[in-house]
Amino acid sequence: MKQIQAIKGVKDVLPGESEAWQYIQKRARDIFHSFGYSEIVIPIIEFTELFSRSIGETTDIVEKEMYTFDDRDGRKITLRPEGTASVVRSYIEHNLRDLAPFSKLYYSGPMFRRERPQAGRYRQFYQIGAEVFGIGHYMMDAEILHMLTLLFDSLNISGVELQINSIGCPRCRPVFREALRTYFNDKRSELCDNCQRRFEINPLRILDCKSTHCHTLAEKAPKTTDHLCSDCLSHFNGVQESLDKAGVSFTSNPRLVRGLDYYTRTAFEFIGGSLGAQNAVAAGGRYDNLVEELGGPSTPAVGFSIGVERLLSLFNSGRVRRQYPPVFIVYLGDEAMQAAFSLLNRLHREGISSVMDYSGGSLRSQMRKADKLKSARVIIIGGDELEKGVVVLRDMEAKTQEEIPAAEIIARLKVTGKPGI
Ligand SMILES: [Zn+2]
Ligand SMILES: [Zn+2]
Repeated sequence: MKQIQAIKGVKDVLPGESEAWQYIQKRARDIFHSFGYSEIVIPIIEFTELFSRSIGETTDIVEKEMYTFDDRDGRKITLRPEGTASVVRSYIEHNLRDLAPFSKLYYSGPMFRRERPQAGRYRQFYQIGAEVFGIGHYMMDAEILHMLTLLFDSLNISGVELQINSIGCPRCRPVFREALRTYFNDKRSELCDNCQRRFEINPLRILDCKSTHCHTLAEKAPKTTDHLCSDCLSHFNGVQESLDKAGVSFTSNPRLVRGLDYYTRTAFEFIGGSLGAQNAVAAGGRYDNLVEELGGPSTPAVGFSIGVERLLSLFNSGRVRRQYPPVFIVYLGDEAMQAAFSLLNRLHREGISSVMDYSGGSLRSQMRKADKLKSARVIIIGGDELEKGVVVLRDMEAKTQEEIPAAEIIARLKVTGKPGI
């Protein structure tokens, strides 16, 4: 029979790797909670128009990367390519604005984009993200960036550089867009095919083109920050001053525009040292008009998402030990099997991680299994032990063992318990 393999661009997270995965998630949750965020669990599927309206019809994501299919009733459904649109949809749908003066929400889970397969990019990838609704002040932007910095610090991730920019608002961005058109007008024929189209519909996107030639052509392009209206400029200055106050180091990158249409004012990326400039480990920005554009009340908002695979590639997972069942119960004979099963049930009720292998076998073969599972300790029950009312407790690392009265084994395991992480 032909073996079935995983789809190209998706990956399994196996034991040994999943522990670091969980560790990162837990760290993020703990830090988000300390900043007052609550979790929101959003669906993986949404109506396609949610993404085309929010991310933008002319973006790479909506044009070529979404997994979209017709539902049985003919409506178009899309596997979410990102989380923000769903969180905004939910915020509006459930009137969260009426329930709290502001909302701080975080989410995590898989996203789907049919990108060209390349190293470090997956078609099903994981993000941890957060959104804040109802606070338009520039200090909120700085607070979010401080939170991300603390998360990276707590994971001992170094060499991550924060870059920020302001991409203006609907008042000043058209001016900047025109300035870009004027600048690129006589270079049009030299731009890549994508950028020739972008020139017409959204020239800002030329600035983050991945082609090196376009990149060179854009080197002397006008800067967003030279075309900001006075409100956007003072917001941007405020963000920078607040970052200084919070002790968050950053560089200002006037070329940074995000690939999604909904951003206003602050845009940011955390560029990971070994990942290269194309691969931000976290990115986000302010999107003060999206709630209204999706049919909700005018509500300022700011948020970010972290690429979990990228974060993991920067994380030294050697710090996180794989969790093996610390106790393996070995039994010899049918009667001992009954006693072993009862003991296992008691251990589970006490929350002591433990396993047994019901296929029996010789002492040697069971010990070999315990060794393969890297169990820290083995409890051995045979006919002799049953008669004497004891069990043998073997420490697999120290290679020592002793007899313990059966009645005392749980207390003993608790005292010398070796929890995983
Ligand atoms: Zn503006
Ligand atoms: Zn280009």
